[in-house]
Amino acid sequence: ADATERELRLACRLLAQIVRLRRKIRTRAEIHERLAREAMTDPLTGLPNRRAWDQTIRERLGGSGQPGRLCVAILDIDNFKKLNDRLGHEAGDRALVHLADVTRRSLRPSDTLARYGGEEFVVLMPDTKLEQGIEVMARLQRELTKAIYMAGNEKILITFSAGVAQLAADESGTEAIRRADQAMYLAKRAGKNRVLGA
Ligand code: GH3
Ligand code: MG
Ligand code: MG
Repeated sequence: ADATERELRLACRLLAQIVRLRRKIRTRAEIHERLAREAMTDPLTGLPNRRAWDQTIRERLGGSGQPGRLCVAILDIDNFKKLNDRLGHEAGDRALVHLADVTRRSLRPSDTLARYGGEEFVVLMPDTKLEQGIEVMARLQRELTKAIYMAGNEKILITFSAGVAQLAADESGTEAIRRADQAMYLAKRAGKNRVLGA
């Protein structure tokens, strides 16, 4: 009887140990998941960051198969430095959040929006021809004129310049972004607040 009791106690201790270990593993997996998520997210806007964007591009466009019609766009806020200088860095931060929110709402769920850098954002639009991609960005311009950003009592119209490129056959995502960026630069040169196709 004594031996049975000892065995039972041992089994109980082992079970408790297993339960503790499983809890520990679960906690670590959760921490790992949270860190991985944070590493891919821009803390200000909550959008995917540059690292996440690069990964998306690699995954979605890295394979050999034809990606089909697909557009990338890059947009850069006009005269953002002035806004910062006049209203302060915090108002600038809020303007970025505002733009991110309006943009996310105006895009399709299948589109990917990311914060590329300071006041630059990028969009990946699957199943989209160049003319459609340009129209998406032009629509966003209109949305922004309706969704006025308030800095205190002041109404601020945020405008941006954008470039859109449709991926050519055998073209890499990076190359298409470069073309979109060149178009964006031309949009700036042409007077800003406009969308140009590459
Ligand atoms: P352009 O119309 O030619 O694009 O001019 P710009 O003033 O928008 O562009 P410029 O590159 O001269 O300045 C970008 C500014 O964006 C400068 C920088 O301080 C500001 N900026 C970048 N990241 C952030 C941010 O996270 N928060 C705030 N508030 N400002 C930022
Ligand atoms: Mg810029
Ligand atoms: Mg700018």
